[in-house]
Amino acid sequence: MKVIPKERGIYSFSRNHAPVERVGLGELVMLETEDAVGGQVRSEDTPLESINWTRVNKATGPIYVEGVESGDTLIVDILDIELAPQGVILVVPGAGALGDMEYKPRVRMARIEDGFVVFRDVRLPVRPVIGTIGVAPEDGSIPTAVPYRHGGNLDCMEVTRGARLYLPVYVDGALFAAGDLHAVQEDGELCVASVEVEGRILLRFGVVKGRRAQWPIVEGPDHFSILVSDEDLDRAVRIAAEEAVKAIMRARNWGFEDAYMLSSLCVKIAVNQVVDPKKGVRAIIPKTIVSLKDLLSSA
Ligand code: CA
Repeated sequence: MKVIPKERGIYSFSRNHAPVERVGLGELVMLETEDAVGGQVRSEDTPLESINWTRVNKATGPIYVEGVESGDTLIVDILDIELAPQGVILVVPGAGALGDMEYKPRVRMARIEDGFVVFRDVRLPVRPVIGTIGVAPEDGSIPTAVPYRHGGNLDCMEVTRGARLYLPVYVDGALFAAGDLHAVQEDGELCVASVEVEGRILLRFGVVKGRRAQWPIVEGPDHFSILVSDEDLDRAVRIAAEEAVKAIMRARNWGFEDAYMLSSLCVKIAVNQVVDPKKGVRAIIPKTIVSLKDLLSSA
């Protein structure tokens, strides 16, 4: 198994980064990851002014995946996520869903013990999320804090242990990277942070040759979710809805009207987060309605 240390990381996704490692399809890979604030907050006394904001949201990688070419879809099986015993959550005036309100910057540490996250006197079951996970984008360089078609800062609670993620591949080898673990996160990620924690991710890569996803797709036990990001939440919903209806048209070989009607009955629109530079939604479609090939076709 190859282990990628957390020091080998990037702050943007780009085809111009040299890979830190090459791995084969089916090979086990362990990524060590920093927390989203770069390990700069280890106690509640840490002043937020001391944080170097150019050293946040690091993703470990990039990894060159052998046998994966531009035009393919990269399969990422998230086999396990291990978390450090302490994470950090913070609020910053101006950030998050309520950033226009008056409040003070504050840091809280949260313990992670016996399968629970302990925030003050509240215990919540651990449900680890990989916040940032992606590949080199089609064009230019995209900061790791931004989600888009290539993945990035998806902050989607479904990107968890046991899930399978599909990512569009724009450059040979994909140039995959991931980091920004959350011990638990709910849809919306309202205050801008989750329980940000360092840890380790166990992954295995696969490939779908010759078909490229339009957006990241998460496969759960009984559904697929299409993850769409846009500066405007309404527009993200609009794009996700169209992707879902088109997939239903392909799956059933139906016209638009019937597929549009069925979408009301079985497609759920959920909000991943409303706090990143692009907001994220997902269209959740049951596997009884569509299959993977209906989602990967661009027709
Ligand atoms: Ca994040």
